[in-house]
Formats: sequence, C-alpha cells, structure tokens
Amino acid sequence: MSVEENLKIVQSEIKTAVSKALMPKDHVQLVAVSKTHPAEHIQEAIDLGQRVFGENRVQEAQGKWPELKAKTSGIELHLIGPLQSNKTADAIELFDVIQSVDRTKIAKEIAKEAKKLGKCPKLFVQVNTGLEDQKAGIAPQDAVAFVKTCIDDLELPIVGLMCIPPNGENPGPHFALLQKLAQEAGVTELSMGMSQDYQTAIAFGASYVRVGSALFGNRDYA
Ligand SMILES: *Cc1c(COP(=O)(O)O)cnc(C)c1O
Repeated sequence: MSVEENLKIVQSEIKTAVSKALMPKDHVQLVAVSKTHPAEHIQEAIDLGQRVFGENRVQEAQGKWPELKAKTSGIELHLIGPLQSNKTADAIELFDVIQSVDRTKIAKEIAKEAKKLGKCPKLFVQVNTGLEDQKAGIAPQDAVAFVKTCIDDLELPIVGLMCIPPNGENPGPHFALLQKLAQEAGVTELSMGMSQDYQTAIAFGASYVRVGSALFGNRDYA
C-alpha cells in the first residue's frame, strides 16, 4: 500500500478512536515515525500534508531533515530515541521536540546547551513503565519528582510524558499509569501508542501517537 493510502487509514482510525474515547484529548497529533526511511518517502508524506515527524537517532536525522525542513515550512520534528549527552547541542539545533528526557544528567545538559543556543525544544520525560533493563526512561516511582526538578530547578519546558510499553504485553495498564503520573506531575501531554496500539493509547488519553510501520511499511535495518 502507498503512503497516501496508509496515511488516510491511520487518520481515519485516529478520528474513530477519538470519537469512542471516554475522555479524549481535543487534539491528537500523529507523529509520523520516519526512521530508516529515505527522504523521498518522507517527502511523499509531506506532500500529502503531514507535518509532524519522529526520528530516533540524531545522526540519521541530520542526514535527512535539514534539507526537508528547508523545503517546507511548519515541519515539527520530534526526537523519540535516547539522547546521548555529546549529541545534545545537535539535537537542540535540529529537533523541535525531544521526547526522551530521562535522567538528570541529560536534563542538565539540555538546560546548559539551550541557554547557549538561545532556544529550547519542547520536552517530554520518558518513563520506563515496564521497568525494562534494556529500555530508556525514568522509573515510574521517580517520574513525578524528576518532572518537578526539570521544571522548577532547571526551568525546562516539560510538556508531558512518553512511554513505550513492553513488547507483547497488554499496553493498557502502561498507558493508564502514564496518564496518572502526568496528572500527578501537572503536565498535560501524553505521547503513547505506536502502529500496533495507537487506538488503545487514544482511549487512554494519548495526545501524541507515534506511528511508523503502519504509514511507511516495514523497516529494513540491513
Ligand atoms: C520506531 C518507533 C516508533 C514507531 O514504531 P511502529 O511500530 O513502526 O509504529 C514509535 N516510538 C518509538 C520510540 C520508536 O522508536
């Protein structure tokens, strides 16, 4: 199927999910996850009107996005993968939103570099809701205090929380936990849900869904 057909399906599924949700967000953003996909495919989505995109590596994004962004105004690029501190300045230069703030060291680094560069992307704190060793994110029990430190002490623009539930587990409880933590922390945005479960995430109050393969097809990591 083409990006055009896929985009139509996903947009209509989002609408349906929003209409069925008990407490839907009035605005659910589709983040089109374009990692591993070449600029031509991304351009197709841009030509169809998609403006919000996600990449999970700073270096890969640097190879594609400066040119794509220069051609079209209004692009909003999200970093959804882990951020290394030596890539912080590059990430702030290129990304409009960083969804993967998950430790004090990186939060301090972002605050420092943002001051130098005179701008700061909107930020999400990533929460490791499944407490998985291999996954990034702050532990749920530390999330609320961490958000407060970021906002009050480091003056960072934290707008919400992000999570990636464990593979093969019912994602509902993870989405519900993220929603509860956001409420406790006093932030409104929830980035949750991927190709397999974005409808469920919307039912649990997602305001950003991150959809890759359902739009661009399977990824080839070769
Ligand atoms: C790759 C990725 C996605 C998109 O995954 P799909 O299953 O292809 O929709 C979403 N979020 C993050 C953090 C990712 O790395």
